[in-house]
Amino acid sequence: MEFEADIAEGQLCDKCQRPMVVKQGRFGTFLACSGYPECKNTSSIHAGQPQGGGEGTGVACPEEGCSGELVERKSRRGKVFYGCKRYPDCTFAIWDKPIAEKCPDCGHPYLVEKTTKKLGTHLKCPAAGCNFTRSPDEKE
Ligand SMILES: [Zn+2]
Ligand SMILES: [Zn+2]
Ligand SMILES: [Zn+2]
Repeated sequence: MEFEADIAEGQLCDKCQRPMVVKQGRFGTFLACSGYPECKNTSSIHAGQPQGGGEGTGVACPEEGCSGELVERKSRRGKVFYGCKRYPDCTFAIWDKPIAEKCPDCGHPYLVEKTTKKLGTHLKCPAAGCNFTRSPDEKE
């Protein structure tokens, strides 16, 4: 089958130096290596941000067996979400900003930042059945 895709100008694969191509995925447009399937390197496109990939969160992807990091991304509608850097290999994504801090109650690997009218901005454990929350400036 012929490889039909748009070459991304000036974007080379940082693994094998082949040109990157523009692809459409579930979370919008991203770049994939034209050397696929030999090279499965991908990176996300950010308007006005020539460097591939959004801002890293320092939070490791919780998906089992995945070594990716959660990075800031934008959905096609412009809403910010946090998805695995290894997308499309890994499709883990959450809406809340993850914070690299282990839940002291249940050991969940990260907390998320939430803003509500009642509590303002606070950190919360996303694990089902765990109600741990704390204010963002409480440092221990
Ligand atoms: Zn490559
Ligand atoms: Zn992942
Ligand atoms: Zn917890």
